[in-house]
Amino acid sequence: MTQTKLAKYRSKRDFEKTAEPSGEREVVASEHRRFVIQKHAATRLHYDLRLELDGVFKSWAVTRGPSLDPHVKRLAVEVEDHPLDYGDFEGTIPKGEYGGGTVQLWDRGYWEPEGTQTPEEALASGDFKFILAGQRLTGGWVLVRMKHDRDHGKRTHWLLIKHRDEYAREGDTDRVIAEDRSVASGRTMDAIAAGKGKAPKPFMLAGKAEADAVWHSNKGLAAQERRAASASRQTRALRKKSAATLPEFIPPQLCNLVARPPSDAGWVHEIKFDGYRVELRIHEGAVTLRTRKGLDWSAKFGAIAIEAASLPNSIIDGEIVAHDENGAPNFAALQAALSEQKTDDLVFYAFDLLFDGSGDLRSLPLSERKGSSTNYRIDF
Ligand code: MN
Repeated sequence: MTQTKLAKYRSKRDFEKTAEPSGEREVVASEHRRFVIQKHAATRLHYDLRLELDGVFKSWAVTRGPSLDPHVKRLAVEVEDHPLDYGDFEGTIPKGEYGGGTVQLWDRGYWEPEGTQTPEEALASGDFKFILAGQRLTGGWVLVRMKHDRDHGKRTHWLLIKHRDEYAREGDTDRVIAEDRSVASGRTMDAIAAGKGKAPKPFMLAGKAEADAVWHSNKGLAAQERRAASASRQTRALRKKSAATLPEFIPPQLCNLVARPPSDAGWVHEIKFDGYRVELRIHEGAVTLRTRKGLDWSAKFGAIAIEAASLPNSIIDGEIVAHDENGAPNFAALQAALSEQKTDDLVFYAFDLLFDGSGDLRSLPLSERKGSSTNYRIDF
């Protein structure tokens, strides 16, 4: 049974290339269900929450990490079940492999379900309450499944929310996230990426974990990671500097009606979406959605704002549409969704990246600005 559940996990990975566990090692028995949270610097930094249930880890990628503030909802994307021995993994997944990047054991401990339902029932109902007893996270939490699948069934999206209790910290959204030390080895992300420092103390496996999970750390990957880490520090520094220059709003370019389309080179065809033109601005995780006149409509498009919060600082020009049952944009359906405030199913089509963390991109050719948005894919 456990082996079938792990088929998806295994199919995504080449164990000749990654040092991640394949799920064949026996873990020690535990009276209480265990959990781990792994900080994972993949395409996008995220925190993988894993709860032991029925012989595997149920797993969610929490895009901005957990918050102790009960007002803050964090997107948690359900990912494939992971083997229990994954709970001791700390190291670097090689570039180019699934989830390539550094993994840190950020928290671990025990959990139990809250309420009268079994955890399986609560998960099926989409309202899953649980209590954590970890080194960083404690007290009550809830995972709430979002009503609609935003990417057409590929992934199931949940929101992770702190319950109000003595462990909640109102107004303190991100302090716990700032702690960058492994609970298993004491190492920072940079030390893990460089293959330095102590091996993690095992929690799931009896005895010693592998000395160091950094894969061929002496064959250039560590050096590559160090270069990448220093490059990303530079990018961060750059981003901080340019953050001040990210404008609040850029009036979007509007259409010009002409008698016939231009016939010379240097023009592109674009789809005309029948929706609302919206400018998406992300600044340090704060999202604003503005109409073409600059009105702030962020509250009307709450689900889109939550998901966009994991993107890096940027201003993206796009259009929000509602699809009809054939998948075609339908303006009447969009107006109905807005007036009934049923906006979970709306889709934001990004067609131009105006600013990113490095600054103003508007002087670049449109083809390059469109190309750079492929960096905005998310890999867990
Ligand atoms: Mn991950």
